[in-house]
Amino acid sequence: MTIERLTNQKKAILDYLRKGIGHPDAYEVYAVVKKKLPQISLATVYRNLDSMAEKGLIKEIRIKKDRFNYDGVEHHHHHFQCTNCGMVFNVEGDILLNYEKINEVAPAGLIEEYDVMLKGICLNCQKKGK
Ligand SMILES: [Zn+2]
Ligand SMILES: [Zn+2]
Repeated sequence: MTIERLTNQKKAILDYLRKGIGHPDAYEVYAVVKKKLPQISLATVYRNLDSMAEKGLIKEIRIKKDRFNYDGVEHHHHHFQCTNCGMVFNVEGDILLNYEKINEVAPAGLIEEYDVMLKGICLNCQKKGK
């Protein structure tokens, strides 16, 4: 019974994150999932997010200093953060890194994956600025 409930909670959280609507933190995940599962607690949401991140089902990304945000988009992508409004956008493609160059400059081991956080002003903010 307990296991069944856990599975439902995980599923609800994962369903939401897989939609790829922004990169919510635990509070935002909690607010959405609570509508489906009113009995769920913030601590449970945290616990589930932790364990799913550990299993590689979702990714923790560092946007704010004091907490993680979560990404449930399955394919590999990078991020662009607007330094004005703080929004984080997905950046597709494998265009950014030259592995050979990195190994030339500072060999650190066998690189298998990389995540880049790009920073700048998003299109929305650029429009508002005009
Ligand atoms: Zn912006
Ligand atoms: Zn993302």
